[in-house]
Amino acid sequence: MPRQTIFDQKNILVIGGAGFIGSHVCDELIKHNKVICIDNFITSQVSNIEHLLGNPNFIFLKHDVSTPFDLNQFPELEKFQVQFQGVQEVYNLATPTNRHEFEQHVYQTLLANSLAVRNSLEIARVYQAKYLLASSSAVYGDPLPGQDTLVEQYWGYVDPIGPRSCYNEGKRFAESFVMGFGQQFNVNVRIARIFNTYGPRMALNSGRMIPDFVAAAAEGRELIIYGDGTETDTYCYVRDVVDGLLRLMNYSVTGPVNLGSPERYPMMSVAQKIIQFTESKSTIKFDHALPFLMKPGVADIHKAKERLGWFPVVALDDGLRQTVADMLGSRVLTYVSV
Ligand code: NAD
Repeated sequence: MPRQTIFDQKNILVIGGAGFIGSHVCDELIKHNKVICIDNFITSQVSNIEHLLGNPNFIFLKHDVSTPFDLNQFPELEKFQVQFQGVQEVYNLATPTNRHEFEQHVYQTLLANSLAVRNSLEIARVYQAKYLLASSSAVYGDPLPGQDTLVEQYWGYVDPIGPRSCYNEGKRFAESFVMGFGQQFNVNVRIARIFNTYGPRMALNSGRMIPDFVAAAAEGRELIIYGDGTETDTYCYVRDVVDGLLRLMNYSVTGPVNLGSPERYPMMSVAQKIIQFTESKSTIKFDHALPFLMKPGVADIHKAKERLGWFPVVALDDGLRQTVADMLGSRVLTYVSV
């Protein structure tokens, strides 16, 4: 028998909740629920959730979810009466994502995509909670020549032992784990395949293109495009992705669902917009493609539209302005006018 919500608000676990996307998930969920955020800060910082720490409906637990855990081991959860009320939903967003530190985090990434998935699914099983895995477009690998969009039924083309395999193949295993565990132990699971996402609270040192561009523009350095500038990518604003994740948790959908923007933009034009929005005099430089960078794919979002009524609504210019304002305003960045 599923545990019923016997109080007016659900208890919701957000694992990886101090991260870029996870902290926005917490912001949204806390409007109507009690949020238990778990993170070990491997690729994030407390500043992402600092504004929530004083909220009576928010509890933060510092824990590495690759290590088994039992919610009864945390006395602070008595406040949410977890023992009686249980947990109704589990969002698992925990995977190290910092591209600058990719090689240092290979082992932790493998554990996050295996043991951490098992441990978080166990929590969902114990409390008979709904479970959502934040997977990635990385499960598709590099798009094949002529492949226009990536649809959920496509099985992908992924190197299982290459420099990114702990993440790409890891996410594939994580998906397999979630589906198999869900079937065998009757846990209500869903999988979001998230495509390139941007917005406030992206770590400035994450090695992702937009924070790198903003930091470079703010400091008057060259913005480096790894390629010849003709490459395109898609950019989905974090508020849209969070809306998709919450919808996915609330709807019953079989199999993974793509969440991403279907609109391509040349990287060159993103660099130019960031130079404009930061009022910088930086220039753009081209360099060799990095070995761990994937070729961007474009999401086919028909399933999300039909099953969740979801599609991205935030225009790139608006999202980029918000992102730049956040990064320049709240981070330790020195603006050097040149
Ligand atoms: P992020 O690095 O900011 O967030 C991940 C969070 O998980 C971090 O706070 C990190 O400290 C935490 N974490 C990692 N391993 C952990 C562990 N063992 N125990 C506890 N906490 C742990 O990255 P993000 O961009 O917010 O990504 C969130 C999720 O979405 C990830 O699973 C990522 O793979 C997925 N995703 C993100 C994007 C994107 O463009 N941002 C695209 C595709 C998929």
